[in-house]
Amino acid sequence: MWAGLNLGEDDLPEFGNRLAHKRWWYPFEMVRACTLVWLFTGLRADEICRLRVDCIKWQKDDLVVAGSHEVVTKDTVCWLNVPVNKTGRAFTKPVDRIVGEVIDDWRRVRPDHRKEIDHKSGEMVEYLFSFKGRRISMDYLNHTVIPMLCRKAGVPQEDSLGAITSHRARSTIATQLFNAKEPMSLFELQEWLGHRYASSTQHYAKVKLTKLAKSFTQAGYFERNIRVVEVLLDQEAVKSGAAVTGEPWRFYDLGHGYCSYDFFDQCPHRMACAKCAFYVPKESSQAQILEGKANLQRMLQEIPLSDDEREAVEEGIEALEKLSAQLADVPTPAGPTPRQLNENRGQVNFIPSSSIQRVPSRN
Ligand code: SF4
Repeated sequence: MWAGLNLGEDDLPEFGNRLAHKRWWYPFEMVRACTLVWLFTGLRADEICRLRVDCIKWQKDDLVVAGSHEVVTKDTVCWLNVPVNKTGRAFTKPVDRIVGEVIDDWRRVRPDHRKEIDHKSGEMVEYLFSFKGRRISMDYLNHTVIPMLCRKAGVPQEDSLGAITSHRARSTIATQLFNAKEPMSLFELQEWLGHRYASSTQHYAKVKLTKLAKSFTQAGYFERNIRVVEVLLDQEAVKSGAAVTGEPWRFYDLGHGYCSYDFFDQCPHRMACAKCAFYVPKESSQAQILEGKANLQRMLQEIPLSDDEREAVEEGIEALEKLSAQLADVPTPAGPTPRQLNENRGQVNFIPSSSIQRVPSRN
């Protein structure tokens, strides 16, 4: 693209006797217009060769976008009439104004030509890229324009995708428009490329890895499946050696109370606490003494959730009851099952772990 935008007369390939004055078969203005049409319009080679001399229409007035109050101010884009192609009828599409400018530059110096028959449509037409009775061929892009641009840019004519051919610009533009910050939808891209079927457009509209990564991040898969719980560490119990003798020293904040089980993250009841022997209610004197300690250290721990647990956390009481019912006969780390604990207490045993929060976004 840089080479095309900075094309100079010296970049044109020479023809004829090298000792004679440099001569080019086609005028510079025509080569430049052809090059920028290739780079910016996403047309097929055949469509470029068959563009009519009057293919550009300038947008002279502000345009209100149908169904909205948005306005496309005049001269933002110009309109390109694309001739009938292999899969569809002639159509018009917006293109960057630089395309219109270089075509106008060429038209200003272009000699008039007799009309020729377009074998696709049967019409008598005046081709845009024609000079001294010779219209550019489909090979002109592959054998002249692309080698010229690669030479100027100092890049090889092949890369990891293979040889750079006339189709490369079309596929690159399609990918870029689909992956733009405010991308074209697949339907819009289909219209712009002149495809009859959306499946053809999908072939071009490859999602870039960076966009895929962004969409994946925004989908929050990681955050959806991770919750954060605050943990209180009783440093006094650690320093005094009480922790070694089995005294609780790590307390997971469940909102309504603390879980003093060291391996809380492995407890099957962690999202609907069954209040086993490791449970410390917040209103208990043990919890109040703990909270009053000066050297209490607070930290956050991320807990990965199962699908049922995520549902229970996100979808409320019904999902929570369902989870509790599933776990009714699963032993707690302290031994008894929730059903046994419930029978002993004569009350509903589960309590949602209400202070366990969705993990903050890492963006
Ligand atoms: S059931 Fe026991 S071990 Fe499990 S979260 Fe509740 S208090 Fe902690």
